[in-house]
Amino acid sequence: MSPEFEDLVAIVTGGASGIGAAVARELTDRGARVAALDLEPGGAPQGVLGIKADVSEDDSVRAAVQEVADAYGRIDVLVNNAGIGAQGTVEDNPDDQWHRVFDVNVMGAVRVTRAALPYLRRSPAAAIVNVASVAATTGIPQRALYSTTKGAVQSLSMAMAADHLREGIRVNCVNPGTADTPWVQRLLDSAPDPAAERAALDARQPHGRLVSAEEVALAVVYLAGPSSGSTAGTALAVDGGMATLRLRPP
Ligand code: NAD
Repeated sequence: MSPEFEDLVAIVTGGASGIGAAVARELTDRGARVAALDLEPGGAPQGVLGIKADVSEDDSVRAAVQEVADAYGRIDVLVNNAGIGAQGTVEDNPDDQWHRVFDVNVMGAVRVTRAALPYLRRSPAAAIVNVASVAATTGIPQRALYSTTKGAVQSLSMAMAADHLREGIRVNCVNPGTADTPWVQRLLDSAPDPAAERAALDARQPHGRLVSAEEVALAVVYLAGPSSGSTAGTALAVDGGMATLRLRPP
């Protein structure tokens, strides 16, 4: 049996760390040629083409997508994963911070999609997967700005699915819960007792542990591939049930 993504080309934004790197690895293992568009492409997994790009800059995005097309001659799968965090209530972040986080988390996905669409339209197996978050649909304290951007990513995914399905491009999104990535590790490392903080964070998850980057990646790969051929406009939660279960802390 030939690999699921044989002959296909995938772009993964933020593909040099955490969830994006796990997605890049899983797609590569399944036969895809993968380009990681990242601010720091040096961290791209082995066998993945790392390309320096800033999703908040249109010229940078266009040049990077062109580089992928020049290198491989096609683009079939786009994973809009690059994102940054923000903490606080509506009172805590000034306007320029709101614009900055929107520019990366929401407009980043818009820009890369716009640049990739002409290639995706020519693919017989086109799929876009956007990485949102459990924060898109769950009221999490101290995350007003971040949650709003992720809600927008989920809405954008549905709207894009409606616009492009008849062109043969399926769009879906994945909503990870708190995942074990360098991003979360950085937050833990800034705590006075990282090990205790980690144990407390594990205990706050409905299933008692952080989500792994690989678990999220497998959901992304499912939605990017032929096994999900009849799925469009959906948000797949990989959050231990956080968004839907009403478990009380033990
Ligand atoms: P990470 O910080 O480990 O990796 C993010 C990558 O994106 C980095 O390589 C970084 O260089 C890149 N990046 C950041 N800004 C960029 C820009 N402007 N242009 C290009 N690349 C840029 O983070 P992660 O935990 O793997 O998160 C990946 C995605 O998953 C994000 O969208 C995040 O919001 C989402 N997410 C993460 C968690 C979590 O708990 N880790 C939970 C839910 C959703």
